[in-house]
Amino acid sequence: MSYPVLGILGGGQLGSMLSTSAKKLNIKTVIFSDDPKSPAKNFSDDFILGSYNDEKKIKYFVDCVDIITFEFENIPYITLNKINQIKPVVPNPKINKIVQNRLHEKDFVNKLNINTTQYSSVNKKDDIIANKDLLPGFLKTSMFGYDGKGQFRIDSISELNNLNIEFNKEYILEKLVKLKKEISVILTRFENGSFEIYEPIENIHEDQILKFSKIPSEINKEIMEKSLKWAKLIADDLNFIGTMCVEFFIDKNENLYVNEIAPRVHNSGHMTINSHNVSQFENHIRAVCKLEKIPLIKICNAEMINIIGDDIVNYKNRKYSNNEFFFDYLKLDIKKKRKMGHLTTLKNQ
Ligand code: ADP
Ligand code: MG
Repeated sequence: MSYPVLGILGGGQLGSMLSTSAKKLNIKTVIFSDDPKSPAKNFSDDFILGSYNDEKKIKYFVDCVDIITFEFENIPYITLNKINQIKPVVPNPKINKIVQNRLHEKDFVNKLNINTTQYSSVNKKDDIIANKDLLPGFLKTSMFGYDGKGQFRIDSISELNNLNIEFNKEYILEKLVKLKKEISVILTRFENGSFEIYEPIENIHEDQILKFSKIPSEINKEIMEKSLKWAKLIADDLNFIGTMCVEFFIDKNENLYVNEIAPRVHNSGHMTINSHNVSQFENHIRAVCKLEKIPLIKICNAEMINIIGDDIVNYKNRKYSNNEFFFDYLKLDIKKKRKMGHLTTLKNQ
């Protein structure tokens, strides 16, 4: 059998972990990124630096690989679509078109009769006033936000004058969910429509950034079943191939809402490298490169802590026991609120 060469758009830690998994399966990876300091180039076989709008560079990249996937969803849709006309982009770029815009994403989820929080499109200050029943809420840029970037918490109309909101782009106003808990469901869907699905993961965010994840999550059976069902329904409707994640909110009355869809491997699933026989990354490679699907087995319960900003220095100097797995993303610059590494701790079942 000849193995395909996999092109990965995006050079962050998710790209690093995808490359590491690919290597284990004899698949060579080429990373394309616009960041010369991309950490993933330490792990991939090849690295191409270029802008996502640079047609020549993109063409060169496409010529080097057989299949293309991505580690973050905000690659320009036009670029993904152009590549897909030459070589297969998996999962299909039509999915990016939906999830790149928080309004389209929520419209899509609601069409499947799956609950989201209430929301409205906002283009000017008056639109917030007209939707004041959505307050307290979050105003988010409808495109290109991540890790809480581009988000404003607004409790009342009187706060509006103090916030520095640039109304030169589209926003979504979302009603605040009184959170009891957040969970995520990660699954891998294969070409024939079959699934491998990881159990729901419980997540804690600080300042809108994921800080802590664990399995098992402490949720009731009904929420567990509903979250798995909704995640599968979304993946089926998108005809998704590869690994994806659905983030959920659970409110104080035990109502479940979809928060957002990540059409890619996800931070909350880093523990699967150590807790399962096949990680979310390996499953993505298997699905995208049409390799064998291996029945998923959980080996251990686990917890993961995200190491953010200069805390990484402490972790680099620490000693670890046998059940602890420290991952340094090898980022050259330490920045506040930047994910620098993670620590997974395995627990007895
Ligand atoms: P990002 O794309 O940056 O991950 P999210 O929409 O997932 O953006 O928001 C990040 C975090 O902020 C969520 O995981 C949650 O903790 C908090 N948050 C965002 N929107 C809401 C909301 N409508 N109600 C309650 N908490 C929210
Ligand atoms: Mg999120």
